[in-house]
Amino acid sequence: MSNAFFNVPVAKNEPVLSYAPKSKEKIELKKVLAEMKSQYLDIPMYIGGNKIYSDHKKEIFPPHDVKNPLGQYSQGNSGHVQMAIDAALSAKKDWENMSWQDRAAIFLKAADLLAGPFRAKMNAATMLGQSKNVYQSEIDAVCELADFFRFNVRYMTEIYQQQPESMPGLWNRLEYRPLEGYVFALTPFNFTSIAANLCSAPALMGNTVVWKPSETQIYSAAVIMEIYEAAGLPPGVINLVYVDGPQAGEVIFNHKEFAGLHFTGSTGVFQKLWQKIGQNISMYKSYPRIVGETGGKDFVVAHPSALAKEVAVALSRGAFEFQGQKCSAASRAYIPASLWPEVERFLKADLSDFKMGSPENFTNFINAVIDEKSFDKLSGFIDNAKNDSNVRIVAGGHYDKTVGYFIEPTVILTKDPHYVTMCEELFGPVLTIYVYDDEKWAETLDLVDKSSPYALTGAVFSQNRYALAEAFEKLRHSAGNYYINDKPTGAVVGQQPFGGGRASGTNDKAGSHLNLLRWVSPRTIKENFVPPADYTYPFLAEE
Ligand code: NAD
Repeated sequence: MSNAFFNVPVAKNEPVLSYAPKSKEKIELKKVLAEMKSQYLDIPMYIGGNKIYSDHKKEIFPPHDVKNPLGQYSQGNSGHVQMAIDAALSAKKDWENMSWQDRAAIFLKAADLLAGPFRAKMNAATMLGQSKNVYQSEIDAVCELADFFRFNVRYMTEIYQQQPESMPGLWNRLEYRPLEGYVFALTPFNFTSIAANLCSAPALMGNTVVWKPSETQIYSAAVIMEIYEAAGLPPGVINLVYVDGPQAGEVIFNHKEFAGLHFTGSTGVFQKLWQKIGQNISMYKSYPRIVGETGGKDFVVAHPSALAKEVAVALSRGAFEFQGQKCSAASRAYIPASLWPEVERFLKADLSDFKMGSPENFTNFINAVIDEKSFDKLSGFIDNAKNDSNVRIVAGGHYDKTVGYFIEPTVILTKDPHYVTMCEELFGPVLTIYVYDDEKWAETLDLVDKSSPYALTGAVFSQNRYALAEAFEKLRHSAGNYYINDKPTGAVVGQQPFGGGRASGTNDKAGSHLNLLRWVSPRTIKENFVPPADYTYPFLAEE
């Protein structure tokens, strides 16, 4: 017990290192990349603090270099999921009784380990395993993740400080208990930081967790687990299993102690999981918390007053960084006819300057897409566009999977604002553009709002304040993260809390107190210092 109210260190965004030629960080990272590339790892699951290997091994290889495996992981089955649930439940009592300062210290230490001794290893794992260039990896796997750890500690203390009023003779209090049971963190391939945040945010609030990452993120997930262990996270608080999603779901969602789902991934999967939880609702001890951040069809809309160069850069960065595999990536754009020739020229110039290849070569801006399934899906959409007289490919359009899953950044021009790639999430380096008549700004805003079921991110470009104000009103529900004269990607923890509405998720804003509130079940305490000793009230007397 501590006889003091401790202040936590002030949370600041982790500075993004430059990796400029000859910089200390670049020299170290190159060394670690070469070391990791030369090793063949045997990656275990982590259950109850034990490393668990199975007989069923699956190989991991870089998406950009599919003939050179990085190692193998042990695939688990239903029995491993059950073991992970048991480990989470048995770790729960000690973990939830641990003081918040101790929980905070573990995750603050994790942030410093990540930003310090683990920085190069975490970047190398993300670059090799998920095919991110060094900048994309640094802003995700190091900076955003360190920010999640540090800012969540601050938000936790801000939540704990929220206390009710007390009248004379009473003391009212609010205790922020963790949920009863275990939380299931089900995480996507595209952000190492999201994978770690989905399991650590509920754990910070006193919950224990079963974590199943995407099978294409296991290489960096294992490094996250190493950091948790080095930071002193007790056994069983976060249990990492590599099990096929539906198979894991069968065990997880059929358990009385299932307390919550922390999900990021595609909309279809999330809807299936919600249905499953709904079907089983009478089985659970408590109503499970369901938090899901899902797909997007993120827009850029330019007013005729916008500056062509700014719009083009927002498109070349916003649509193609990390091969468009960001939930926030611009994938549909609405450009006025008067601006299009200039935007097209600038955009094509950027695209022809992009170099594509392995992230191990730092001059490559574009790397591979995550796996063969994604490659086949994207190349299918590109082929369809090539064969459709309503659309024209104005840049890119080539693809090749002989060395790795490379899709050239591709721009499709369509005359149909409802063309399939203007509406559906593709999740790759394909941007579709609809050129509108300059007079039709208001109608275009309606198109932006109504063409897709998603509402994650969106960007409006204009030099005209009336036009910006009109868009702000009309697009109120079209994006959970709304950008004015900026690209729709690159949200920073503590600055632009992230999440969308409609089919894009429950909008619980990762990296804010709103998310942490979902992982607590408050208990109200009223203490009466001098309880009444007579049941009667004054009104009972006649005179
Ligand atoms: P995904 O939906 O394919 O997979 C997410 C996780 O769910 C993985 O761990 C996967 O193994 C698991 N899974 C898949 N099917 C399952 C099933 N039937 N039962 C149980 N588990 C199952 O998503 P992904 O391809 O890894 O990630 C890309 C998607 O994530 C995109 O749609 C993207 O928009 C979205 N995303 C959204 C945000 C956001 O904040 N809104 C952030 C990142 C990614």
